[in-house]
Amino acid sequence: MAPATGIAERTNAPRLGRWEQRLRRPFRGGWSVGVESGGWRHRLISRRPPGDEEQSSLARDAVISQATPAGASATSIALLVSPAPPFTPKIAVVGAGPAGLRAAEVAAATGAQVTVFEAKASVGRKFLVAGRGGLNLTRLEPAEVFATRYSGPGQSAEFWPQRLAELAPAGVQTWAAELGIETFAASTGRVYPRDLKAAPLLLRWVRRLRQLGVQFAVHHRWTGLTPGAPLRLHFSTPDDTRTADADAVILALGGGSWPETGSDGAWTGPLADLGVAIATLVPANCGWEYPWPPEVLAAAEGQPLKSIAASAGGQEVRGELLLTRYGLEGGALYQLGPALRAAAEPVLTIDLKPEHSLEQLVAKMGPVVKNLRAEARARWRLGDAAHALLGLCEPFADATALAAAAKALPLRLTGPRPIAEAISSAGGVRWEEIDEQLMLRRVPGVFVAGEMLDWEAPTGGYLIHGCLATGAHAALSALGWLRKHRDSAV
Ligand SMILES: Cc1cc2nc3c(=O)[nH]c(=O)nc-3n(C[C@H](O)[C@H](O)[C@H](O)COP(=O)(O)OP(=O)(O)OC[C@H]3O[C@@H](n4cnc5c(N)ncnc54)[C@H](O)[C@@H]3O)c2cc1C
Repeated sequence: MAPATGIAERTNAPRLGRWEQRLRRPFRGGWSVGVESGGWRHRLISRRPPGDEEQSSLARDAVISQATPAGASATSIALLVSPAPPFTPKIAVVGAGPAGLRAAEVAAATGAQVTVFEAKASVGRKFLVAGRGGLNLTRLEPAEVFATRYSGPGQSAEFWPQRLAELAPAGVQTWAAELGIETFAASTGRVYPRDLKAAPLLLRWVRRLRQLGVQFAVHHRWTGLTPGAPLRLHFSTPDDTRTADADAVILALGGGSWPETGSDGAWTGPLADLGVAIATLVPANCGWEYPWPPEVLAAAEGQPLKSIAASAGGQEVRGELLLTRYGLEGGALYQLGPALRAAAEPVLTIDLKPEHSLEQLVAKMGPVVKNLRAEARARWRLGDAAHALLGLCEPFADATALAAAAKALPLRLTGPRPIAEAISSAGGVRWEEIDEQLMLRRVPGVFVAGEMLDWEAPTGGYLIHGCLATGAHAALSALGWLRKHRDSAV
């Protein structure tokens, strides 16, 4: 049976609870109308006037019976000729982190046969690790601000605004609520599950995926792909090697941090074999090293620098830092990661008292001319770490010199901590390798989502949000691509 082709009118049909597409073209003096609902497809011909429900009931009932009872909108159209085969493409999702699981969820909800392949023995291991810090799922922040949190070379200016239009922070809360997980927003706007745990959410998520028919193949390490139709995936398993065929593939293999969770970045080899250019994975949201003198460590190891401002490469942020044995950690530093990495000799400049001007600090010192740092500790209310840090700049000629050091204390950092310790990684599949649908230009039918793409964002919920949004986008893109190919093939 030749399917209807022609003007495609794509409509969201919430009543059907599914995605619906209608295609119309002139046909024997009337219209040929194809209706797709979920995985089912019917071809209807010979348009009837609106209200002529009787003759169209066969068609309507057929459509309704495959969709939901709430009433399909094809009633004014026609007579059923014959059902088309169901549209149930095989989609392989590789990598079971938030990006891959969301891609599987969206693809399976439209009727695709989805298998999730995962190298580890269980799914979502890094997601569970993120739960140790409370699982910051997203952040309630205006979309125009939210979108600026994502960076990385070669991204189109529209990419993140579009993803945020598809999945707003409130949408993440709704998604969690549908899984039975209540969320709350802290005063910072950061959104967490009410119980601050990842495991209950993951458990319910996997249960929902199974209900949608998603199959899981754990202990399957992806090792390569043979392009073609179908696409052939290669895996190593504990006992053997095996292959699996799919009509479309979504790769969601994560970045390179915390390799023990499975995100080891080893996928760069098989993708490079396919000719895909990859920016080297480097640590992001990570600590930086600084060779503290023993007296600073003795006085302040493990102590926070609270309410400071930090700057690098012309960018200034407010926040906290933590003085560690090897250097510094903390949100303020994570935000400056891209600027620090871009510098040949990264220098972090700390303003220990951003709420006070240099003149105000000098005034608070009064007539003091001796033991300046010790005096400043009480007069400026310095914590242990700030007090110890000022020792790096001693001696001070006068209070003005001390205040100048407090307002702009330069630390020449010696490098980032290893990627294995970082919260996330930057680098990954370069943007010029993918189209706006997240499909690899060199390997049609293969889509990429999540942290393995060359974007980065600071901590604060932006990472998981970005993974959910790109996972959903990759799934919808894969389905759109498959439909287009099926329609043009017949
Ligand atoms: C300590 C810590 C705390 C964090 N806290 C937060 C937070 O609160 N909020 C937030 O937004 N983000 C947080 N993150 C970051 C967030 O967890 C990640 O950005 C996110 O999990 C990335 O999702 P992903 O789906 O792209 O990849 P991943 O979650 O890394 O999943 C990739 C999956 O692919 C699998 N895989 C890899 N290679 C192969 C292969 N060859 N074959 C088959 N499978 C493979 C891996 O085993 C893994 O299961 C945190 C990260 C860490 C380390």
